[in-house]
Amino acid sequence: MKTSSARVPRKKPKLGQHFLKDTAAAIRIVDALGDISQSTVLEIGPGGGALTSMLVKRARRVIAVETDRVLAAQLRMNFSLTPNIEVIEGDILAIDLDTLFGPRPGSTRPGMEHVPERVRVVGNLPYYITSDILLRLFEYRKYFESIVIMVQKEVADRLAADPGSRDYGLLSATTQLYASVEELFTLPPEAFAPPPKVHSTVVRLTPSGRVEKLGVNEPEFIRFLKLSFGQKRKTLWNNLRTRYASEDLTRAMLRAKIKPTVRAEALSLEQNAQLFRALTQPAAAQVS
Ligand code: SAM
Repeated sequence: MKTSSARVPRKKPKLGQHFLKDTAAAIRIVDALGDISQSTVLEIGPGGGALTSMLVKRARRVIAVETDRVLAAQLRMNFSLTPNIEVIEGDILAIDLDTLFGPRPGSTRPGMEHVPERVRVVGNLPYYITSDILLRLFEYRKYFESIVIMVQKEVADRLAADPGSRDYGLLSATTQLYASVEELFTLPPEAFAPPPKVHSTVVRLTPSGRVEKLGVNEPEFIRFLKLSFGQKRKTLWNNLRTRYASEDLTRAMLRAKIKPTVRAEALSLEQNAQLFRALTQPAAAQVS
């Protein structure tokens, strides 16, 4: 026998479902996107629509990606008379963002080159996949003008941390390669139903073009950063020794003016890039 509870969507803890119930906070999040009247907004994990209902009133177009089948169906029903929203039932880590925002067939003819639309991204993220979502957004950063997301407070602190500070690590470095980070405001667990165990912070990421300025091979530099930050307690030298010969490291550190006793966390991205170039490019080929 079917009971009514079978039809009522329940919170699925595995999907990070903590729904925002603080309306003032929802307004602040949407405000943080700026003037969106001419923009497309990609919403990640719309859930029950706390942000979505405001977005459709302000944005030119909203694309909302929700992985929970029941919630996606409810959203479609709730917004069935709203022409500027498309609800996609899917996993934000799997959907093809090039198909959503890239060139349309025929738009690559000479004189019709596709200029990527500059989309704004918003989402009260499922915390269990925050880093994966960030990496995916950075991979497709050519489409994004700004990203306003709610993350666990400790993660926000790491995203925004300066080199040399306690919270600075691999996540800070990889994020700051691609975007400048602003921490906007923090909410207590009670702002959500059901309340999570942690505080949550809204951050705005603005793609900065820093990785392009560093002039490094991106995948190789990221591999190098992962190695440099490998073991937090080890010095940079000891972490890099697992891949590079001592004499090459000594020469490269001298050339990049970096002390062997330093830890990766203390270096700016520019210093890390300098060392990376000194290790991977012959001296004559180096620019700086
Ligand atoms: N935006 C709503 C709010 O503020 O009340 C819901 C936020 S809740 C923290 C996260 C939402 O992301 C949930 O609705 C969950 O189902 C959805 N979600 C979880 N994993 C997802 C994924 N891989 N792709 C898209 N949505 C996902």
